[in-house]
Amino acid sequence: MHRYEALRSLESNARTYAATFEQVFEYGHGMRLRDSAGREIIDCLACAGALPLGHNHPEVRDAIIEFMHSGHVHQALDLTTPAKYEFVEKLFSLLPPNFASKAKIQFCGPSGSDAVEAAMKLVRHATQRHPIIAFHGAYHGMTSGALAAMGNLGPKIHAGPNASIGIHFAPFPYTYRCPFGTDGSQTEELSLNYLETMLSDPESGITKPAAVIVEVVQGEGGCIPVSDAWLRALRAITQEHDVRLIIDEVQSGFGRTGTMFAFERAGIVPDVLVLSKALGGGFPLAAVVYGRDLDVWPRGTHAGTFRGNQIAMVSGRKAMEIIVRDRLQENAAQMGALLMNGLRSIAARFPVLGDVRGRGLMIGVEVIKPSDELIAGPQDGNMARDIKLAAFERGLLLETGGRHGAVLRMLPPLIVTANDVAEVLERFEDAVAEAFAASE
Ligand code: PLP
Repeated sequence: MHRYEALRSLESNARTYAATFEQVFEYGHGMRLRDSAGREIIDCLACAGALPLGHNHPEVRDAIIEFMHSGHVHQALDLTTPAKYEFVEKLFSLLPPNFASKAKIQFCGPSGSDAVEAAMKLVRHATQRHPIIAFHGAYHGMTSGALAAMGNLGPKIHAGPNASIGIHFAPFPYTYRCPFGTDGSQTEELSLNYLETMLSDPESGITKPAAVIVEVVQGEGGCIPVSDAWLRALRAITQEHDVRLIIDEVQSGFGRTGTMFAFERAGIVPDVLVLSKALGGGFPLAAVVYGRDLDVWPRGTHAGTFRGNQIAMVSGRKAMEIIVRDRLQENAAQMGALLMNGLRSIAARFPVLGDVRGRGLMIGVEVIKPSDELIAGPQDGNMARDIKLAAFERGLLLETGGRHGAVLRMLPPLIVTANDVAEVLERFEDAVAEAFAASE
């Protein structure tokens, strides 16, 4: 333990879990972690979606070992390699054919944020326009451009002035807390009208943005899905106004929402698709995929030493193969429904649990201060944090998100089983009961 104590004194205060967890995580297998005291923890986060197969999947591990023994180059900038060829071939086979047939790929630095930077830079270059429209509550990463598109002021406060430069925000169809004050039944229509007005009324000042950037399920923003009809209407509006549509599937891609990509279900295609997290099967990899009409960058426009890491491509290709072979997107839909139903019955017993929502294995439970007058009582970030800590004491790793950190988020790996779901629900209910009793 001594060396870990030394590490703690060296690590920055900005560490996400510093104030929360004292454990040292030593081992991981599938959906389970084990700490240095031998305690088992159910990982219901999967590294915010970056571990589609959980920890240390044996087939991914073997593929990487085999690759390392093969003598193939393991970091190659943009050189053509067998690993890259096989990776791109596999990825394109998973994209809807009407998108794949006219798409190009550009590998980015190892994070989702860098791929968002690339997407924004690309549409700005291609259209020679600067403004981009993002949505309230959106999360696209922490580098300057991606942070600018974050629709939540909290994390921007520390970024200095002008943190939102070049970005305009539109209301997201958050039906549980309708930004227009309705009971939710008109939220989608009103958010589309708002956007339409932004794009057509000269007084909005942004009738010609380069693009609209959107998450099909807002992840960090509190697991808020949009409907297929809303997404189709968004696609139609952007096309009508000659505005590019960037879909950010960094968190929702690769089976997590029950289909390979969340946008697919609406039957639309984006102009630019942003991918990371599960793309590398647990290793850092990010890319943008976009229509050939946007292939306007001169060579080297989005460079970076560690973009397109070969080991991550081997891992990502193997993970894609396993997701398809084991139909893990279907498992995500089934296990997601089981988990969501269980959470809804728990929420019916505790007035501090409000909306339970999500899609597939991207699930959020909004924690509220119960109110007699309001449909959705005010968000209760403190109670959400108490539940998260009580859950962790019971060996269940969750994360909070959304406004005021009041949404408890679950993103188990796609390999989750019905037994795992039952265990998660049991520990979660106990945690809620403890936090609720302590508050009374
Ligand atoms: N976009 C979305 C939708 C995300 O959820 C995230 C991270 O959570 C990012 C972009 C940024 O990715 P990264 O943390 O790898 O920079």
